[in-house]
Amino acid sequence: MATTVIPQIQTSVSEFVAKPRKMLIGGKWVDAVSGKTFETYNPATGEILAHVAEGDKADIDLAVKAARKAFESGAWPETSPSERGRLLWKLAELIDQHQEELAELETLDNGKPVFFSRIVDVPTASDAFRYYAGWATKVEGSTIPISAPGARYLAYTLREPVGVAGQIIPWNFPLIMASMKLGPALAVGCTCVLKPAEQTPLTALRLGELIMEAGFPDGVVNIVPGFGETAGAALAAHPDVDKIAFTGSTEVGKLILNAASGNLKKVSLELGGKSPNVILQDADLESAIPGSAMAIFFNQGEICCAGSRLFAHKSIFDKVVEGVAGFAKSFHVGPGIDPANNMGPLVSQEQQERVCGYLESGARDGAKAVVGGKKVDRAGYFVEPTVLVDVKPSMKVVREEIFGPVVTAIPFGDLDEVASFANESIYGLASGVWTRDISKAHRLGAKLKAGTVWINCYNVFDSALPFGGYKQSGWGREWGKPALDLYTETKSLCARI
Ligand code: ADP
Repeated sequence: MATTVIPQIQTSVSEFVAKPRKMLIGGKWVDAVSGKTFETYNPATGEILAHVAEGDKADIDLAVKAARKAFESGAWPETSPSERGRLLWKLAELIDQHQEELAELETLDNGKPVFFSRIVDVPTASDAFRYYAGWATKVEGSTIPISAPGARYLAYTLREPVGVAGQIIPWNFPLIMASMKLGPALAVGCTCVLKPAEQTPLTALRLGELIMEAGFPDGVVNIVPGFGETAGAALAAHPDVDKIAFTGSTEVGKLILNAASGNLKKVSLELGGKSPNVILQDADLESAIPGSAMAIFFNQGEICCAGSRLFAHKSIFDKVVEGVAGFAKSFHVGPGIDPANNMGPLVSQEQQERVCGYLESGARDGAKAVVGGKKVDRAGYFVEPTVLVDVKPSMKVVREEIFGPVVTAIPFGDLDEVASFANESIYGLASGVWTRDISKAHRLGAKLKAGTVWINCYNVFDSALPFGGYKQSGWGREWGKPALDLYTETKSLCARI
């Protein structure tokens, strides 16, 4: 297959993709031990985009060794908190300076519209490093008055970095995921081995270059691209990794958990979702309809918290469906690198086939597509934005995560009914409520079993706002202050005085 010829991109980007990309281990850019490479594809065309070193167990071993050395030598944990913060801040600045380049790279690798890469992905990534730069000097233990008899004691706690962190990330927000994982780990003094998704390794590798340019010591961040079943599995199972952080499917999350049990490394998981988005009778439909459309269609629906189950009160159901379907029809679906397009392709052929499989299963089960319902007949991995009605709770399209631009719309009667519909899921990542009645918003918000409840908004993220799931949507909270807990151990010191 020929390498893609891409119009409208910066020279630095075309040069970056033209060169075979290596992996970052111990501060050096190296080939895989096996010498193997793999291809990453441009999902807008299906053509090869770049060749990347294929990490496997031997490379993970080397990367973990490098991270261990940087940790035990004190190269990173004994760097002063203020210096760690300064480097994180500097990295944020470098990301901002390379905003356009990173945005184009993200779009070429993942497919998403370059407009969103530019205004969402890159600034969210730099903000993550800036936010955690601030925390580097503020992770404190406490002094604790204790009542043990017979003597006086001085007791206090220290917060120490957990050690070497393995971090496995998905393909839907590659740069943001890398930054949200690295930021808190580096702030507290952990050293890291990051494995980007095989579909989208490029921005993580460019980030690695910026990390070295910022001046992080060798081995503090190691980046090993490769496949999940090989490099990912080796990292999750590695006996010298102290903590594994994973974002991806619930199915793989369970494998990570099993792999981690060998040395009982700490585990945090941010997994799938089938998030309910509820529009009450009194909602302001002028904002609820576009908000609900973007709740599912943003990032082609490839977002774990997508509002993929839309519940609208029966009195407004038809109007909501018509409005969301109208919004779906208005998308310019095409290559994300072309600024005229506001919906890109799915990330891969596999993902396109997966989503189309769900559309076929919905049709077989009796669901009706008001708009969309099939793949787009052109090169690349495009799927039509789709609204399904006449759906039942038993259908796969209602129960399972589709991870594409497909929403099921369901009418409801009252608050209790919709709360029970909404909670009828193995997942509990996010949810949305649209209403003008502030009491109902908070009453329903309290009933929803989800890590996030957005009220009169959706997909609002902030580095400071914790994110994570109830039920099978995961373990632990990332973003914000709780992410620091994932990368620290608390040590109690008790002295008789
Ligand atoms: P998807 O199925 O949507 O591609 P995954 O959950 O499979 O999402 O992938 C998320 C990340 O997990 C990727 O970096 C992938 O390489 C990695 N991964 C996949 N399988 C495994 C595994 N068995 N062990 C460790 N990591 C894995």
